Amino acid sequence: MSRADIAIIGTGPAGISAAITAKVRNKNIVLYGSRDLSQKMQAAEEILNYPGLPRTSGKAMAAAFEAQLKDLGIEITEKRVTSVYAMGDYFALQLSDNTMAEASSVILATGVVAGHPYPGEEQFLGRGVSYCATCDAPLYKGKDVTVIASSPAEEAEADYLAEVCGHVRYLPLYREQPKFTHAGIEVIREKPVEITGTTRVEALKTEQNSYPTSCVFILREAQFPAQLVPGIETDGTAVKANLQMCTNLPGVFVAGDLAGQPYQYIKSAGQGNVAAISAVSYLARQARKNL
Ligand SMILES: Cc1cc2nc3c(=O)[nH]c(=O)nc-3n(C[C@H](O)[C@H](O)[C@H](O)COP(=O)(O)OP(=O)(O)OC[C@H]3O[C@@H](n4cnc5c(N)ncnc54)[C@H](O)[C@@H]3O)c2cc1C
Repeated sequence: MSRADIAIIGTGPAGISAAITAKVRNKNIVLYGSRDLSQKMQAAEEILNYPGLPRTSGKAMAAAFEAQLKDLGIEITEKRVTSVYAMGDYFALQLSDNTMAEASSVILATGVVAGHPYPGEEQFLGRGVSYCATCDAPLYKGKDVTVIASSPAEEAEADYLAEVCGHVRYLPLYREQPKFTHAGIEVIREKPVEITGTTRVEALKTEQNSYPTSCVFILREAQFPAQLVPGIETDGTAVKANLQMCTNLPGVFVAGDLAGQPYQYIKSAGQGNVAAISAVSYLARQARKNL
């Protein structure tokens, strides 16, 4: 398996900026995220405070970033990273298509996840709570499963689950009407409140009902950092870092909203730049150790 110098997770201003600097520094990078770039980045109708792009919009900024990635020959690997494991002198990344990848260092630029895990979510992780339909659907062949989905992008995952599992319940946390290719997916407009069970998940409770289920697939645009990277130190929703954007795990760097407030484009892009420079220095130190 080939090993990237730097794996950058996230295609918002932080991840894109990190990718640009790392590429300019001649590093072999892999940039994971959506080819449509960050939806949050594109949400702003008018942006007044980004230098060089006066009175712009989120969509126009995304187009400018896309053009710069293209110009530098930076490709986006359209996969979600579901876990990052420290393996000593490298990191193993589990991907949403159930494949693995390796990198010598990692920059986390996944944006911030609002709220807290559901009660029961952490307790039953791997025992009926999953963040990856492609990875875990075969474990629930023929069984009834439930999906909590943060955006329409997850509808394809529910379609896949319907092919493999039994009955699929789908709880959209967004306004649009879900569209599926697979008939029979049950859409439930209720607010999930708790995942319950004894040794494994047995039900998903909503404000109104309790639905028996063998697995709850929680599909968010981003995961809570401690679930993505076991052992990473956080301060609530933010990953703790110093001014060089180094986390408590050597070789893991953070940038953007995930590093805490203020939530701003320019701060995210600036930290992406710092994180990439720190990753480059880290790689140089590692290389010298092996001389
Ligand atoms: C409506 C609105 C208006 C705003 N207006 C302004 C403004 O005027 N000025 C300003 O400075 N800021 C503004 N902001 C804030 C700005 O959008 C954010 O601060 C900025 O987008 C954060 O960038 P980021 O790269 O840290 O994260 P994000 O933009 O959130 O990007 C993170 C990306 O990582 C991807 N990702 C997450 N997890 C994974 C994973 N496991 N694997 C692969 N990819 C993953 C996500 O899908 C996402 O694409 C606004 C935000 C909103 C919502």
